Amino acid sequence: MSIPSATPVATSPTSQEALDVLRSVFGYESFREPQGEVISTLVSGHDALVLMPTGGGKSLCYQVPALLRPGTAVVVSPLISLMQDQVAALTQAGVRAAFLNSSLSAQDAREVLRRLHDGSLDLLYLAPERLLQPATLERLAGVEISLFAIDEAHCVSQWGHDFRPEYLQLSALAERFPGVPRIALTATADERTRREIIERLGLTAARCFISSFDRPNIRYMIRQSGGSVRNELLAFIREHHAGDAGIVYCLSRKRVDEVASWLAAQGCEALPYHAGMSAGERASNQARFLNEEGLIIVATIAFGMGIDKPNVRFVAHLNLPKSIEAYYQETGRAGRDGLPANAWMSYGLQDVITLRQMMSASEAEETHKRVERHKLDAMLGLCEMTTCRRQALLGYFSETLSEPCGNCDTCLWPPQVWDATEAARKALSCVHRTGQRFGVTYLVDVLLGKDDERIRRFGHEQISTFGIGTEHSATEWRAIFRQLIARGLLDVDVEGHGGLRLTDACRPVLRGEQTLWLRREATPARRKASRRTARRDTAFTDPADNALWEALRETRLRLAREQGVPPYVVFHDASLAAMVEQRPGSMAELADIPGVGAAKLEAYGETFLGVLRGA
Ligand code: ADP
Ligand code: ZN
Repeated sequence: MSIPSATPVATSPTSQEALDVLRSVFGYESFREPQGEVISTLVSGHDALVLMPTGGGKSLCYQVPALLRPGTAVVVSPLISLMQDQVAALTQAGVRAAFLNSSLSAQDAREVLRRLHDGSLDLLYLAPERLLQPATLERLAGVEISLFAIDEAHCVSQWGHDFRPEYLQLSALAERFPGVPRIALTATADERTRREIIERLGLTAARCFISSFDRPNIRYMIRQSGGSVRNELLAFIREHHAGDAGIVYCLSRKRVDEVASWLAAQGCEALPYHAGMSAGERASNQARFLNEEGLIIVATIAFGMGIDKPNVRFVAHLNLPKSIEAYYQETGRAGRDGLPANAWMSYGLQDVITLRQMMSASEAEETHKRVERHKLDAMLGLCEMTTCRRQALLGYFSETLSEPCGNCDTCLWPPQVWDATEAARKALSCVHRTGQRFGVTYLVDVLLGKDDERIRRFGHEQISTFGIGTEHSATEWRAIFRQLIARGLLDVDVEGHGGLRLTDACRPVLRGEQTLWLRREATPARRKASRRTARRDTAFTDPADNALWEALRETRLRLAREQGVPPYVVFHDASLAAMVEQRPGSMAELADIPGVGAAKLEAYGETFLGVLRGA
C-alpha cells in the first residue's frame, strides 16, 4: 500500500523513458510497486520518503532518476561495504558510478573528483561525514546535481540501533541545494522512526511511499528443540541447503566458535564471526562470505548490518532472539533476491529461562526492563503460537494479512493442540507445594515420583503432588513447563538458580476457571513425515538442470574472480535460474532474461551462451 499524496503527481511523460532505462540498463521488464511512482516523483523535482522491506527494490528508486535527470546523483550511505557493492553492480550494468571514502588512495579520490567535475559521473556515493565537509559541499555547489539520495535514513533516529550523528546535519542539504530533489530510504517500519526521518531531514513536503513489509519468499519455521540443536541444524542444512549460503546466529562468542568448527568438521563450509575476533579476521571472513558461493557464517548479532548479499538462502537461529524486531531484522537478511529462502529457528526450555533471567538481573532501570520484558514475551508468543506466524509477525508491525500465508510451518504443518488444563494445574501446584524455589528438573522429578535423595531431604516425597504426573514423560513435562513460562504463568527467579515462581496470571488456571490449550510437541515420527514434504529449496527436479545450474555458477564465479567482485554482481541467482528454465539459445533470447541489460549482454553474453550450448 502506498499512501496517496494530497497533490497527485501527474503521470509523467518520462515514465516511458524510465521503463526504457529499466529494460536496457538493468534488464528488468517492469517496475515493482511503488518504484514507478517514486521515480516520477523525483524526475518531476519533488522529494520522496520510501519505506520498503529489505529486498523490496529501493536502489532503483533513485538509480533510474539519476540516469534520467541531468547531472550527478549524490547518494549518502553509511557503510563502505554497501557503497562498494552498489558501485560494483552499477559499473557492471554500464552505469558511470563511483564512491568517495577513506578506502580510496589519494590518487583514486582525485580521479573520482575529476570525473565529477567533467560531468562524467551519473552517481556518486559518499559517507555522510565526507559529504558534510565544507570542501565537499563547496565542490558540489560547483557541479550539477540531479538528486540527493539518503540511504538507510533510519540512521537519523537517536532511538534506533544504527544512530549516526552526522545524519542529523543532512537537513542542511535542503537549504544549500534548493530545487534539488531529495529521497530518503529505509527498511525500518515503525511509526516513530518515520516521523523522526521526516522531521530531522526536513521532508515534510515529501511524498511518502510505504510498502507492505511482508517478505513472502521467506518461509518462517520455528521448532522446539528435541535435544541437540546442532544436529537439528545440520539435518536442516543437509536437507534443504546443501551448497547454499546462509547465516547461523548464536547468542555467545563461545558458542559461535563451537558451532562453526563443528559444522566444518561435518563437511559444511562454515566460518565464525563475532566481536571477540580481530578486525582482520572478521573482515576476511566477511569478504569470503560475500565473494564465494555457498559459505555459511556462524555469527553473533554483530554480523549483518551492511550485508547486501542477495542470495543468502537461509538464516538459522540457534537461540531465541530478544524481540520480534530483532528476529525480523535478522531473518530479513535471507532472500533479498526474492527467491525462496528459509528462516529457521530451534529453541528450548533453557533459552526461555536464560533470557528471562538475563532480563530480571539486568541493571537497567525499571521502565526499560518492562519494555524489554514485553518484547521478549511477544517473541515467545510468536514461537509458541499455533496459527499463522506471518499474520502474527505483520500484525506486530500493525499490518494486516487477511489470510493465513501458507508459507510458514504452522500453515504447512498445523501443530496439534491438546487440553493441558489438568497437567498445568498439576505442574503449578507442584511449584506451589515445593515452595516456589526449585527448577524444572527437580519439579519434574517430584511430579514423576522419583526416588531421589534430594527430594527426601526436603521431605517432598510427602507432598500431594509427589508422583501425580506419571501419565506424561519427563520430556513432555519439560515442554509443559516451557510453555507455562513462555505464556507468563510461571516466572524465573532473579537470583539466577532457575527457580520457578507462580505469577498472578496462573490463578484462573489453578482455580479451574480457564482451559489451557498447549501445543503438542512433534514426535520424531511426525517430524520425519513433515520433512518429506519439503524439498531442497533451490534444487531443480531434472538432474540435467542441476548440472547446468552448477556450470553457470562456476562460470559466474570465474568471471567475478577475474574482476575482484562478488559473484552476484555479475548475475543474480534469479538470472541464472531463468537461464536454466528458458535455455536461451541466442543473444536476443538471452537479453530477455531478467537482470541481463545491454552492458552485461555485451560483456558476458557469448560466454554464458557457450555454457548453455554445451548443456
Ligand atoms: P533493497 O535495497 O530494497 O533491499 P534492492 O534495491 O537491493 O533492495 O533490490 C532487491 C533485489 O530486487 C535486487 O536483486 C534487484 O535487482 C531486484 N529488483 C529490484 N527492482 C526490480 C524490478 N523492477 N524487477 C526485477 N527485479 C528487481
Ligand atoms: Zn502462515
